[in-house]
Amino acid sequence: PVEQVLAVQLVPFDSTRKLLISRDITQLDRVQTVHRDFVANVSHELRTPLTVIGGFLETLADMDAPEPDVTRQFLPMMMEQAKRMQSLVEDLLTLSRLENGSKTASQEKVDMAALLNTLRVEAEGLSQGRHQIILGDCDAANLWGNANELHSAFGNLVSNAVRYTPEGGRIRLDWRLDKGRGVFSVSDTGIGIAPQHIPRLTERFYRVDRGRSRGTGGTGLGLAIVKHVLARHHARLDVHSELERGSTFSVWFNADHLAPTA
Ligand code: ADP
Repeated sequence: PVEQVLAVQLVPFDSTRKLLISRDITQLDRVQTVHRDFVANVSHELRTPLTVIGGFLETLADMDAPEPDVTRQFLPMMMEQAKRMQSLVEDLLTLSRLENGSKTASQEKVDMAALLNTLRVEAEGLSQGRHQIILGDCDAANLWGNANELHSAFGNLVSNAVRYTPEGGRIRLDWRLDKGRGVFSVSDTGIGIAPQHIPRLTERFYRVDRGRSRGTGGTGLGLAIVKHVLARHHARLDVHSELERGSTFSVWFNADHLAPTA
């Protein structure tokens, strides 16, 4: 149920009377709540790695001469936490640039065959041979849009597919024309998503399984970035998923975002 939030104020009207003014600030209140939650989430995400790094540094500082073995053991763990903070800050900057930028993306011709190939190479790098990466269809059409933004949005979908698919699974990339529209899709044979989570996936920091997301280097912001980039390209995201069978994330582009290949 949506509650209405009112701001009520009593102001002098004339020498004997006062006026009661009430304003509906439901929307403002909601925005403030979302903002507060966001700041709390960011702080929490940064505090955990900082605590871990601080703890290791304290232990090292307490030793007169740290054993090489101890240093060798601590350094990679500290580096991992630093990397986690770096990914988070990078994603936050990307989100803020997208939110503060103009409503529509710049238009350049994006070579889809080249982009799909780059995404495949990147997927192979992330997978390290643990998955089968397949380039499926690549129809003859390109996109009008911002190449960097589209690369980052599609890249997020691909890295999710790798991260949420157990070893031995398959990941497939397709670019197809369908009734005058263009559809880019990433299908995986991974852990899948229960239906009740699907509507909330693009919320900032929404995760089905916190531990699993963090454990694989997730910031919880990937799909929020995807949502913003797609809005700027008037594109739509479709998610089909079945628990323990896999997921397909498809991005639909209108005809006016399609460009010839020649
Ligand atoms: P994260 O950094 O946690 O992956 P995202 O915004 O990219 O954040 O995704 C939000 C959540 O959606 C993830 O935490 C995960 O639970 C779920 N998710 C995204 N992609 C997939 C996928 N291909 N398979 C299963 N779950 C996924």
